[in-house]
Amino acid sequence: MILFRNVLFLIFSFSFVLIGQDKPKNIILLIGDGMGVNYVAASFFDDENNPYKNFKSIGLSNTASANRLITDSGAGATVLATGYRIINRNISVDSSGNSLKTVFQVAKEKGKSVGLIATSSVTHATPAAFYAHVDDRGRETDIAYQLSDSDVDVIIGGGEQFFLPNVLGGSRKDELDLINKMQLNGWTWLDKFDHQAIIEAKKVLCLMEKNGLKPASDRKHTLGDFTKAAIENLKNNENGFVLMIEGSQIDWAGHDNLQDYLLSEMRDFNTAITEAFNFAKEDGNTLIVITADHETGGMVISGGDIDGKNLKLSFNSKSHTAGFVPVFSFGPSEELFQGILENYEIGRNLIFLLDPAHNF
Ligand SMILES: [Zn+2]
Repeated sequence: MILFRNVLFLIFSFSFVLIGQDKPKNIILLIGDGMGVNYVAASFFDDENNPYKNFKSIGLSNTASANRLITDSGAGATVLATGYRIINRNISVDSSGNSLKTVFQVAKEKGKSVGLIATSSVTHATPAAFYAHVDDRGRETDIAYQLSDSDVDVIIGGGEQFFLPNVLGGSRKDELDLINKMQLNGWTWLDKFDHQAIIEAKKVLCLMEKNGLKPASDRKHTLGDFTKAAIENLKNNENGFVLMIEGSQIDWAGHDNLQDYLLSEMRDFNTAITEAFNFAKEDGNTLIVITADHETGGMVISGGDIDGKNLKLSFNSKSHTAGFVPVFSFGPSEELFQGILENYEIGRNLIFLLDPAHNF
């Protein structure tokens, strides 16, 4: 009887937590690929417009994958997209090859719109984890096919070659023109950024380069410009939206140990955070979560002036590391993302906020 009462108490307490949880209408997840804690510190000194002081809810995340302390971007994004740690190089499948439901799929079940923005190809590991299920992140033409069959409403980034056959200048060997297919299925296709066209489109596929976008320093439009346009499109859904934004090339700068590239990609990522934050503050019903899939390069700030000028960044590695990554959150239920987190808790919290009945 005592046991029974304890079980009842536990069920009651858990339901109470679920009922009491403040659920956001919209979720904006910003992923700085490779952005360890020192990346934020460096950007804090380097970028006078950095947005980090706006966030009072701060956490740290352990980025391990299912089989490695040091994750790759496939497993690193999957855990954020699905709430499950998986084997490196896989994309949103478990070790038996079964598809794992993603935060985008759960959002769609709830009638929300979904969007993704990346400065890499939109078929790169991080964005792919939100809509595709494959056993190797390198299969970008297969991932593109899955995107063409998906219901992602707003797609902004690079990677046009994976959507077009060889004869049209693409890298597809199957002769399929997925851009044409997607246009027939209601997406507006853009090959350059067009704010007005994006906000007016019902669904939009904006692929600005054959592969990744130009680095931020050579690009006319910032990640913040893309973010603003995507939000203006997605906010038309009265059920809300989920938007994932990746600062993809932060990781590339880390791999190449390039200080100027790293800092300018961080400045670009900060413009997206600022746009997302301004919207969320005004809206009052939008949760923002900013984190990374892993740290890259073992970067430390090894020198600089007292005012943060003349920074010197040093690197210990050309690869990913197991350094903790930061988690910033703002909006309804931001407290779920405070403290020391396992990376799978971030994905699970996001899915839980969309569907409290979802089982893990
Ligand atoms: Zn990487």
